[in-house]
Amino acid sequence: ISQLTTPPWALVNGELVPYTDVKIHIGAEALTRALSVFEGVKGYWDSAGEVFSLRTPRRHYDRLCRSASLFHIPVRFSYDEFLAGLSTLAGELLVPDKDLWFRPTMFVTHGHWGEATEADLVVTAFSQRKLDPDPMRLGVTSWRRASDLVLPTRVKSSANYVGARMARIEVRRLGYDDAIMLNDFGRVAEATGACVLIAQRGRIVTPPTSESCLDSITVDILEEVAKDLGMPFERRPIERTELLAADECGLAGTISELTLVSELDGVEYEQSGLLAQLRQRYLELMRGDLVLPNVDLVPLVDASRALRPVGAGVQAG
Ligand code: PMP
Repeated sequence: ISQLTTPPWALVNGELVPYTDVKIHIGAEALTRALSVFEGVKGYWDSAGEVFSLRTPRRHYDRLCRSASLFHIPVRFSYDEFLAGLSTLAGELLVPDKDLWFRPTMFVTHGHWGEATEADLVVTAFSQRKLDPDPMRLGVTSWRRASDLVLPTRVKSSANYVGARMARIEVRRLGYDDAIMLNDFGRVAEATGACVLIAQRGRIVTPPTSESCLDSITVDILEEVAKDLGMPFERRPIERTELLAADECGLAGTISELTLVSELDGVEYEQSGLLAQLRQRYLELMRGDLVLPNVDLVPLVDASRALRPVGAGVQAG
């Protein structure tokens, strides 16, 4: 967030609140036992700059509910309320030509261990520019992605990012942009905030969630795009040397979209093959220039009508 401009508003349990007034109590389980789950949802302007739509918001709501339910966090909001909340916030923060990235966070405010648990839902949103370098240079970190019996990695919980942060700090000190994390078996899990795709001998391959990766919405969408392009797409375990020997490598995520990787631990990848084509097509889909039956872009018509510029922001600390 430090690279993003502080927005004027956040949404707290459906109400607009000045961003800097959003507070959390020191006694909250969210702090003591990391009881916090979240999403990153992206909204795109279409290529004509007229319609602003959310990418697959239902899938994000469903994953947020799955994350919450796994940790016994009660969900107080229906999908319609969730969508209405994003729309309200977009009405305040959306500006022409700039996409918005929303972060809904559900965190436990009350309840000791598992008893009498209550959670708040806070949504923040940021005008998005690309945060990562493109293409990226990666290194394999010595930190492992937790196994399923240590922490559930298929859902999106704050606790999962403790190890990812250590990994990122380690490889950044070595001069890389991001880390590849291996799982408990020494096979490829994912990067610190995105999934890994490789291309080799005409096929796209990515590890399944059982390899300790997040159940990624972008990977599911990229699979649809690949199918539409007639590219073979496989989910199976990938070993470290297979990753190093691949023709191409990319990172997939809501924010990363499909970012190409130029290098892993000094080994270089091709930049203009299947993954570059896949990325191109994915961006066309996001801008409304391609329509696929299983990928919903939900227009926020009210947001487009209520357009007004964001006030001068200050840099977040
Ligand atoms: N893995 C991790 C650890 C992530 O933080 C993300 C970003 N949410 C992803 C994978 C990609 O998931 P998605 O496509 O749903 O954004």
